[in-house]
Amino acid sequence: MIDIKTHPCFNKDAKGKYARVHLPVAPQCNIHCNYCKRDYDCVNESRPGVTSEVLTPEQALAYTIRLRERMPNLSVVGIAGPGDPFANPIQTMKTLHLIRNEFTDMVLCLSSNGLNVLPYVDELKELEVSHVTITINGTNTETLSKLYKWVRFEKRGYFGEQAASILLKNQLEAIRALKRAGITVKANTIVVPGINDNAVVDLAAEMKKLGVDIMNTIPLYPVEGTPFEDFEEPSPEMMKELRKGIKEHLPPMTHCSRCRADAVGLLGKDDPEAKQILSEVSKL
Ligand code: SF4
Ligand code: SF4
Repeated sequence: MIDIKTHPCFNKDAKGKYARVHLPVAPQCNIHCNYCKRDYDCVNESRPGVTSEVLTPEQALAYTIRLRERMPNLSVVGIAGPGDPFANPIQTMKTLHLIRNEFTDMVLCLSSNGLNVLPYVDELKELEVSHVTITINGTNTETLSKLYKWVRFEKRGYFGEQAASILLKNQLEAIRALKRAGITVKANTIVVPGINDNAVVDLAAEMKKLGVDIMNTIPLYPVEGTPFEDFEEPSPEMMKELRKGIKEHLPPMTHCSRCRADAVGLLGKDDPEAKQILSEVSKL
């Protein structure tokens, strides 16, 4: 039986008890965020500056089987990149099917930019995926156009406000459909000072209207070689104030560890030996 209370990211009490693993099966991305450098992991759920192995779905299953033997408290399998799960839907869905067939009790979790989630919501429900994170950075297309370089959707490339508007429309539709399917939805927002910081609290209010369950704000991490390399990181005070404002509308996530796309172990306490297993299965 799946016990969603064992998800350490969504239940503080499960944090030191249950482990999660990210399966790095999704290397491509279908958008280009201006805060992202492609040699790095997706900052949807990860800390920039570290690359990961990429596994095939079969390798990902072998990896999970070995991890479960080693860590009986492994309760959550997530897919969060290193690109976007739904820019690689074949690999993502195949991995989820393989894991669900093998582990009927595993909590399944995904993190996406939301551009291409909608076509898969029914299948996610059938697979009993219980948690999905959508990274959404605002609802004003002019603001959003400053955050994204391009969006690729249905084999066409889009730029500027047109790109922002397609992304936003798809994100909102995905969130509505996920909630109709009874899935827990977390909104992730990257706070970029001077661009979207003033709109984050209003975004929380909008997310509440859509039934979103929790909101996680992630301070911009300026990465060299990106358009935001010279931006200042939001101060801890700014983040604290924003979380206070968000709390008026939605529970803010307070114990996010900015996990890598190949994170494994307890939250904030990755298991170093599992990295060896990851490297071994990537050669299978
Ligand atoms: Fe899911 Fe994000 Fe937690 Fe990974 S870090 S298990 S994707 S909520
Ligand atoms: Fe990078 Fe993630 Fe944005 Fe894709 S969605 S460009 S991988 S931060």
